[in-house]
Amino acid sequence: MLPHPRLKTPTAVDLHRELVRLKEGKLSWLYEVSKCAPQEALRDLEVAFSNFFEHHAGFPNFKSRKRDAGSFTLYGAISVHPGEVRLPRIGWVRLKERGYIPSRAHINSVTVSERAKRWYVAVNVVEERKEPMIPPGPIVGVDRGLNSLAVVSDGTVLENPRVLRRYGRKLKHLRRNLSRKRKGSSNRRKAREALARLNMKVANTRLDAIQKFTTMLAKTKPVIVVEDLDVKNMMGNHHLARAIADAAWGEISRQLGYKTRWYGSTLVKADRWYPSTKRCSRCGQVKEEMPLRERVFHCEACGLVADRDLNAARNLAEWPGVARTLETPVEGGVQSTAKPLIQPPDESGTISLGRGPRRWM
Ligand SMILES: [Zn+2]
Repeated sequence: MLPHPRLKTPTAVDLHRELVRLKEGKLSWLYEVSKCAPQEALRDLEVAFSNFFEHHAGFPNFKSRKRDAGSFTLYGAISVHPGEVRLPRIGWVRLKERGYIPSRAHINSVTVSERAKRWYVAVNVVEERKEPMIPPGPIVGVDRGLNSLAVVSDGTVLENPRVLRRYGRKLKHLRRNLSRKRKGSSNRRKAREALARLNMKVANTRLDAIQKFTTMLAKTKPVIVVEDLDVKNMMGNHHLARAIADAAWGEISRQLGYKTRWYGSTLVKADRWYPSTKRCSRCGQVKEEMPLRERVFHCEACGLVADRDLNAARNLAEWPGVARTLETPVEGGVQSTAKPLIQPPDESGTISLGRGPRRWM
């Protein structure tokens, strides 16, 4: 569905004019909200269309006001106090968690979003960061574990948070509960909301553990070596447990990417042909095979017996390409830290607002 070469697609400005006309008719509810929200949405739409026409991206999806409430972005009169934030049109809103949003940094915009009936605000700020010091200490390798979320070559393990097992049983119960409710009933809606709330709690618990882990690594290790895994390929996994592990690993490497830049550490990706799971981390002998079911690495040459993931992480720490990579500026390296950093909203602290009024949408 490509446009005729001489036909022009409407720009955000054209669409805005159209929207103003519609507001006087059946979309009068739009007068209740800040004009920034639809304007920003139109700008997003323009970008989506230009990606579609020029960069072969997918056709923009229709977003329903009811189903995809999602989020909106606001500019203008925004201020932050430790326990509250002022949003344009809406005014001061009390925060459930305090002290997360930097109150002295220059504020660009806020994005308000809703998930499972909880409201969140993410503040986009510009902050001058001090030139970070390179942390002392040894080079470490980090590998994704089979049972844990990640294993570090120094023996540190990022376990799946313990509470998740309890949540797992509860999730099962809530899912069964939902399937028993009659379609379209209000009991079904309630059951669906309870499930969504718990799902979010699970995701947040895991995310919190990952945040602490990646901060610890970026602040204390000068060089972190990970495997260069194709996250896109991994996401095709249909087993729930594997899919979650894939997503967690994708998140860990994404966070290490920007946190190493913040704290003066360097993230290095070992090439994917490096046999980190098949190589003995003591003598360097490479096995022919190391099937997934083998949890322990036994070396026939030197007799080493080590946990499979720990052996792989140690091999990553010793990846011969590290030296070469460090001589040239690398993405995520210490070379790119001098300029002021704009924090993307996700990383500047997203704060729960508690249950808020639905009328914002
Ligand atoms: Zn060996």
